[in-house]
This record gives sequence, structure tokens and C-alpha cells, in this order.
Amino acid sequence: MQPKYKRILLKLSGEALSGNKSGGFDPFNPAVIEQYANDIKLVTDQGIQVAIVIGGGNIYRGMNESESGIERAHGDYMGMLATMINGMAMQAMLEKIGVFTRLQSAIKMEQIAEPYIRRRAMRHLEKGRVVIFGAGTGNPYFTTDTAGSLRAIEIKADVILKGTRVDGIYTADPEKDPTATRYDKISFQECISKGLKVMDMTAFTLCMENKLPIIVFDMNKPGNLLKLVEGEAVGTLVS
Ligand code: UDP
Repeated sequence: MQPKYKRILLKLSGEALSGNKSGGFDPFNPAVIEQYANDIKLVTDQGIQVAIVIGGGNIYRGMNESESGIERAHGDYMGMLATMINGMAMQAMLEKIGVFTRLQSAIKMEQIAEPYIRRRAMRHLEKGRVVIFGAGTGNPYFTTDTAGSLRAIEIKADVILKGTRVDGIYTADPEKDPTATRYDKISFQECISKGLKVMDMTAFTLCMENKLPIIVFDMNKPGNLLKLVEGEAVGTLVS
């Protein structure tokens, strides 16, 4: 089957990696990372180029200065470092199953990652390597969703795939409202007029202005990613 996309940017939330385990500082559920890696391999095996932006929410978020007593910008840098730990975990799991990877960081840390260099990242992708972008945008006051949109546009990805634990965009929060229904497709304008939250405003606007389609889908369902790139109607398409 001819895949629908040639180059994708996959945005994974950090929180999903914890697999909802509780107690102690144990941010990873290896089963989740393993499933993600297997799903990514299914897609790279089809010759599709995969870039990944990974969040850090399972380890640290810098956003609540009043609770933590840690200044916002300082905490945000801590959050960016958290995404590097997740990036390394994802890298290890991918390499273990034979997928070649490169980790690039928006904050210099030469012993463990290449610095982010756009043209180099694109070259890796052309050679079939999965490129993981860590440390967000490298700037405080942003999110990894924004990093995902930014990198997707920079590397000319065909689409940004936001892997979440829900299977798309709903009329209301499906975890709170049982009558909520899912959209198969929706326009950027409709998301705004209906007040639907797909990504934070900075990330969303970047995609809209640059005509980069977003697909929100359930990454925790094995096989979903492959179905999606093969053109099956999985999740919600924003375009
Ligand atoms: N962060 C940042 N700049 C960026 C990306 C991330 O300052 O460009 C920080 C911010 O504190 C954020 C944390 O890193 O809360 C972790 O990222 P995020 O909350 O986006 O992770 P996710 O929700 O996807 O797990």
C-alpha cells in the first residue's frame, strides 16, 4: 500500500510514558515505551521518515511557580532537561529493536546528543534514521507542542501527529461528558470558534499559519500509527 505521508512528526506526551503508575519517582513504564517503539518501527519499515518531539510532563513541568517556589524560567529549563531523559529512553528502546536513531537537543549537551541542526536532521531523515528532538524549543515559556509544530514546519513534515490517550478531538471532554462525540475532521477555524483545545495557542497558530495539518490520535493503541500513515481514518484531522 502507498503510504499517505512521506515524512511525519510525531509528538508524544511525556505523561503517557509513565503509564499512570503511582508512588515513588518512577517516571517510566517500559511497556509503554516498548509499544511506542514497536509502532514506530512498523512505520519506518514502510520507508516513512519519522521525527519525534517528546514531552517531559512525566518528570517535570516548570509551570507552577507558586506551588514549587521555583522561578518559572528556571523551572522551564528543568522541564526541557526532562524531555531529554525521555528522548534518551525512547532512543534506547528504538535502537534495541534495530531502528537507527539520532537525538538532537535544542540545548547543547554534546556528550549525549547532537545539537539541533535543521539540515542535519533532514539528512538523517533521508537516510532513514529516526530523529528525536529533545529539549523542546530551547526556550522557556514554550511547550513541547510548540516545539513539535516548529520542528515539523522546519523539516517540512507532511503532518504533525499528536499521540495522546484519547482517540481524537471531541465536542466536549469525553472523560467528563459522556454525550461528547468525536470529530473525524475539523478545520482550524472551527476549532477556534468552538473553543476546542487541540494544542496550546502558540503551537496551534503556528500550524494554522503554515497550513500544517494536525492529527490527534490514540498512540496507546498498538497499530494505530501505521493505520494512520496508510491513510485509514484514525483520530481527528485538523486542516
Ligand atoms: N518546556 C519549555 N520550553 C519548550 C518546551 C518545554 O520551557 O520549548 C518546559 C516546560 O516547563 C514544560 C516542560 O518543559 O512544562 C515539559 O514539556 P511539556 O509540558 O510540553 O510536556 P508534555 O505535556 O508533552 O509531557
